[in-house]
Amino acid sequence: MDTILVVNAGSSSVKFQVFSIEGDGKLQRQIKGQMDGIGTRPRLRASGADGSPLADRAYPIEAVPDVPVAMGIAGDWLRNELRIIPIAVGHRVVHGGPDYDRPVLIDHGVVARLERLIALAPLHQPHNLATIRSVLAKFPTLPQVACFDTAFHRTHDAMADYYAIPHQLHAEGVRRYGFHGLSYEYIASTLPHVAPEVANGRVIVAHLGNGASMVALKDGRSVESTMGFTALDGLPMGTRPGQIDPGVVLYLISEKGMSAAAVQDFLYRDCGLKGLSGISNDMRELEASDDPRAILAIDYFLYRISLNAGMLAAALQGLDAFVFTAGIGEGSVRIRAGVAERLGWLGVALDPAENSRQARRISRSDSRVPVYVVPTDEELMIARHTLSLLSSRPSANPNHARVS
Ligand code: AMP
Repeated sequence: MDTILVVNAGSSSVKFQVFSIEGDGKLQRQIKGQMDGIGTRPRLRASGADGSPLADRAYPIEAVPDVPVAMGIAGDWLRNELRIIPIAVGHRVVHGGPDYDRPVLIDHGVVARLERLIALAPLHQPHNLATIRSVLAKFPTLPQVACFDTAFHRTHDAMADYYAIPHQLHAEGVRRYGFHGLSYEYIASTLPHVAPEVANGRVIVAHLGNGASMVALKDGRSVESTMGFTALDGLPMGTRPGQIDPGVVLYLISEKGMSAAAVQDFLYRDCGLKGLSGISNDMRELEASDDPRAILAIDYFLYRISLNAGMLAAALQGLDAFVFTAGIGEGSVRIRAGVAERLGWLGVALDPAENSRQARRISRSDSRVPVYVVPTDEELMIARHTLSLLSSRPSANPNHARVS
């Protein structure tokens, strides 16, 4: 069985999935796993496509010093115990910079170019690249593909790409990139099946998870996003503030004496729903609480989503459909109802019963703007890209790529 390994390497965990390539070329998810607690309590967990447990193992902290070692352990487990030897690896890479508008087959030159982007995504890019480099060193002939969170947004025109700062900084890469691109690309690829009548229209997709953003799609292409230079901007998130006056950052530095590293840590880890509620970054916990600060955090989340939806509708000059996705978007009846209520002026009319039963379409039949819930699948998107790049190589015989 030919398989593709999909890797999503973070700062303290690495998630992986294995897809088999079926006879008809379709991809079938076989395994989902992750090695987390790197640096604290390393643990390998994996399950089959049906959720059946395949592994749950703890490791001593010193046995898993970093993310590449964690991926190595997971890779050895796949190879030695499950006899899974992938024909290619697809990586989620957070930043493709200004130039990569699509996935790319990795070689040493690509790695060097991606290394120059570390300053643009210091929390994620180094871990993505460390894992790629270690696979490249161990299996030099194994094809690896980098799939970028920014690439889908490279269709933005200049208005959506610039900040009002001197041109030199734009030339250096200080641009409004936008993120969650693999999720949006998956949704855009799914819409023609889910909602063919609006797939070529003006659609807002709300990716509401621990990270949260929204995109404006026109004819399936990204024209505007709530995120910008980094994944801090836009909507409030689990632990990130979303849009914030840069003056607040200046205040933290000049009045609170915080270093750049301390401000970075603060903005990525201590703000958002967690900072505002003082309770949790987890929406389920906030929804279960009747603490006024939890209610404030949820209301703020809804308010900012509705404000940003207005902005994206302006970018699109109208709205033909609204889509919810990711953990909160797919799971929370309350958040979807709260957003829909605030978007009534745009033509959204929710069907509460359809919303409660987690239907695919949750708006009333007479809603001018239909509202959908579409589960995202970034890993499948990466696997598809990897397979497609593999097939388009000049010597495209997947079996030649096999490692022993
Ligand atoms: P993600 O980053 O996409 O995995 O989403 C994680 C977020 O989704 C967390 O804040 C979870 O609390 C939230 N979430 C997942 N399922 C639900 C649900 N059924 N209701 C409310 N929030 C949910």
